[in-house]
Amino acid sequence: MFSGLVFCVDCGSKMNYGSTNNYKPQQAFFDCSLHWKDKEKCNTHYIRESVLERLVLHHIQRVTEYILHHRDYFVSAMGQQMWLESTEKIQISRKKLERNQKRIAELKRLFIKIYEDNAAGRLSDERFDMMSQSYEAE
Ligand SMILES: [Zn+2]
Repeated sequence: MFSGLVFCVDCGSKMNYGSTNNYKPQQAFFDCSLHWKDKEKCNTHYIRESVLERLVLHHIQRVTEYILHHRDYFVSAMGQQMWLESTEKIQISRKKLERNQKRIAELKRLFIKIYEDNAAGRLSDERFDMMSQSYEAE
């Protein structure tokens, strides 16, 4: 469940998931990947998965309890956060729309140009087909 999400408190390296040869869930653990590469650079950091699960569960319970005791503040703070995120997403989408509209206008100009070049004999039919298909696909 925590694989890839656990990092060493001292060196920041990823902590690798491990277990014993006779796998038993209670023996599964995480240890510092840098410690295994170079024991001089980071002292061993190790935590059993079951201990980590208990700590995370305890934290979730504390956060949930806090939310229940401060419901109005939490609803207000989350509403504000969601509003900020949606505003940011709208701005990103508007910029993307603007970029795409500019590119569509450019593609129309390019299409007219290759059509005229083809009609004037400056662009072969083969090249025209290739370019027009490419612009059309884009
Ligand atoms: Zn470490």
